[in-house]
Amino acid sequence: MIIGILKERNDRRVALTPDIAKKLKEAGNVVLFERGCGSGADLTDSVYAESGAEPKKRSEVLNSAQLLVTFHPLNSDDIVKLKKGTIYISQFMPFVSLDKTIELAKAGITAFSLDMIPRITIAQSMDILSSMASISGYKAVLLAAGILPRYFPMLTTAAGSIPPAKVLVLGAGVAGLQAIATAKRLGAVVEAFDTRLAAKEEVESLGAKFVEVEGSRDDRAAGGYAVEQTDEFKNLQREKILEHALKSDAIICTALLRGKRAPLLITRDMVEAMKPGSVIVDLASATGGNCEVTEDGKTVRIGTVSVVGNSELAAEVPDHASQLFGRNVFNFLRLILEGGNSIIDLENAILKSSLVAYQGEVKYQQS
Ligand code: NAD
Repeated sequence: MIIGILKERNDRRVALTPDIAKKLKEAGNVVLFERGCGSGADLTDSVYAESGAEPKKRSEVLNSAQLLVTFHPLNSDDIVKLKKGTIYISQFMPFVSLDKTIELAKAGITAFSLDMIPRITIAQSMDILSSMASISGYKAVLLAAGILPRYFPMLTTAAGSIPPAKVLVLGAGVAGLQAIATAKRLGAVVEAFDTRLAAKEEVESLGAKFVEVEGSRDDRAAGGYAVEQTDEFKNLQREKILEHALKSDAIICTALLRGKRAPLLITRDMVEAMKPGSVIVDLASATGGNCEVTEDGKTVRIGTVSVVGNSELAAEVPDHASQLFGRNVFNFLRLILEGGNSIIDLENAILKSSLVAYQGEVKYQQS
């Protein structure tokens, strides 16, 4: 197979790192890379060339690749350059919009969407969502600690003692748990909240307090994802969050509902009532935010409170983000590559879930 690596247009991450290119080459494939593809993650062309990959122009990679991996979906100008039958792997998010998937199907591309890989144990090593969420959770806390005009840890100094910062984490999935762990390492007192009661044990095992609201809707059939809650629960939840937000120095928002607007958990009134200088980092900003005043890609100030809206914080750790993404993709590629050839087993549960376009047809089915 001829495998292509491209430079992302608006992101410092790269989908396949040189160590992965080397493994793919050793497995009998030819690897082509667009010159400069790794520059955002400080991976030079010479490191790619040493791995056995061949430098090319963007158009050459697009024209020649039989298998292509990118972090973000290609735009239409690039898609038209792909050969019919090319296997193209990226994140198409068909549950948000089917447009890109339809375009790929029309172009005769075999498209796998990594965000559709099921959250099951055998697929954990391919789970790019977890890899990126974990980095975002970590970075969100560092960002909050950098903005907060106070210390995170408790300190006893000759000038008197400083109490530890209080951090509230909303949503204790992958990003939330990493945020909790990072805030704990920095010495903060951490509380967390999630509608999935299964999260309680994980939160407590990290040394944080789980804030419980009774009556959340059952999510066992949702494949590990949360489900929309009743209005009664939402009101109860807001009261509880207000009580804890008033005591917090920083709030890290990570609550998401797959394919829907993120749950609104913090109102403007709550922000206005927070302690002076407090910080909210809202990782849910791309899907509307958990906080009413969040603006995606911006930091807004409400009085003295800073509200950072950023769902792409993993892009700010491009080296490790690219490494983890590349390893996840390599584990996925093991399912379809054998001795330099591709074999797509349509009965494989992981391939079946992630295959969104095949032989001119859209394969994604809305549930
Ligand atoms: P996610 O990014 O979809 O959502 C983040 C968190 O927000 C979730 O924990 C969710 O329950 C929570 N949330 C949603 N609505 C909320 C609300 N109104 N209030 C508070 N919290 C709310 O989730 P995720 O981080 O991708 O992970 C979800 C689950 O999947 C977790 O249980 C995780 O352990 C599991 N998981 C399993 C695998 C695997 O087995 N391969 C891999 C990754 C994650």
